[in-house]
Amino acid sequence: VSSHQPINSIEKACMLRPLEAPFRYLFGPGPSNVPPRVLAAGGRPIIGHMHSEMFGIMNDIKKGIQYAFQTSNNMTLAMSGSGHTAMECALFNIVEPGESVLVAINGIWGERVAEIAERMGAKVHTLVKTPGGHFTNAEIEQALAKHKPVLFFLTHGESSAGLVHPVDGVGDTCHKYNCLLLVDSVASLGAAPLLMDQQNIDILYTGSQKALNAPPGTAPISFSERACHKMFNRKTKPVSYLLDMTHLSNYWGNDGKPERTYHHTGPVSGFFALRESLAILAETGLENSWKHHTEVAEYFWKGLEDLGLKLFIKDKDLRLPSVTTIAIPEGYNWKELLAYIMKHHRIEFAGGLGPSVGMLLRIGLMGYNCNKANAAMALAALEDALKQCRMSKA
Ligand code: PMP
Repeated sequence: VSSHQPINSIEKACMLRPLEAPFRYLFGPGPSNVPPRVLAAGGRPIIGHMHSEMFGIMNDIKKGIQYAFQTSNNMTLAMSGSGHTAMECALFNIVEPGESVLVAINGIWGERVAEIAERMGAKVHTLVKTPGGHFTNAEIEQALAKHKPVLFFLTHGESSAGLVHPVDGVGDTCHKYNCLLLVDSVASLGAAPLLMDQQNIDILYTGSQKALNAPPGTAPISFSERACHKMFNRKTKPVSYLLDMTHLSNYWGNDGKPERTYHHTGPVSGFFALRESLAILAETGLENSWKHHTEVAEYFWKGLEDLGLKLFIKDKDLRLPSVTTIAIPEGYNWKELLAYIMKHHRIEFAGGLGPSVGMLLRIGLMGYNCNKANAAMALAALEDALKQCRMSKA
């Protein structure tokens, strides 16, 4: 017995302190604050991940995602993991090593996808603009004709730049070149119009923690029939066992087989919360949700301009309503502004990310957080910080 005594000095004292998680206004690019109803759903007693009731909840989640994405795709599910999990799932399942992929890069998300594609052995071609830039359909078509990729990636809501990218016509152009269209809507879903089927998107994914206001850790994704045809007729197995869609489609009851067999243990509490957040979106209605985000964003943008701040995306129609970006005002240190606002107002804003670091500040008002009172609070915090944080000219 004595040889199996734990050594209590190994980091035990830390765990004897209670958990501390302070309240913060999460007005950055995510996660956003989670409404009590969603927290309560996540706090319910868990059931087994293979219980029939859980399969019923997963079926509900599938319907909730189909509504949110506006798709009738059977191959619709939620990943056990964050937005990156969905990103990797799409690439690992659709693309085989050696195949060409075209990635639109106008912020960090294209960079990430290009890196993931490169790591899995794809031939990566990129279309690049500085953060906040966007691509015309003609530019996309030219690159498709040149590189003949099997997959084209586009970010709908570029949260590192604050840009909402036009999607109309892109799917049709991709299909003309026998290419699938993969779209990232992590930062835009529920905030800006996106219609998976009508816009001919083949693979669409989002995250739980933005306008859906569920805790981070689950990520809705959907595949068109065209995408399914490609991913279920591969010559090689996807590099990831965990993200292999032949297994995940069975776990979600999408493969038509009578039995679901164990693959991995899904995040039961995360799925409860996700179901509740999708229910709130369905109750609100997509159109109302888009309209509401636009109205609050326009109120916020006007307030920012009244403070003398410059919006990073000049064209109003290309501004992402969920995440607003402002140029760092002259004479200020952006890190100091963020730290001041966190310390004195308990509000989180963010700086740039990837290629936009040092270029801008990001303020997210998403879903539950999206209302004029919060916009006014964010403006008041900025006004105060602008008074207090001006750098001395010395
Ligand atoms: N894409 C976009 C547009 C995002 O804003 C984010 C999260 N900031 C991600 C992907 C990655 O999601 P996650 O952090 O949940 O992995």
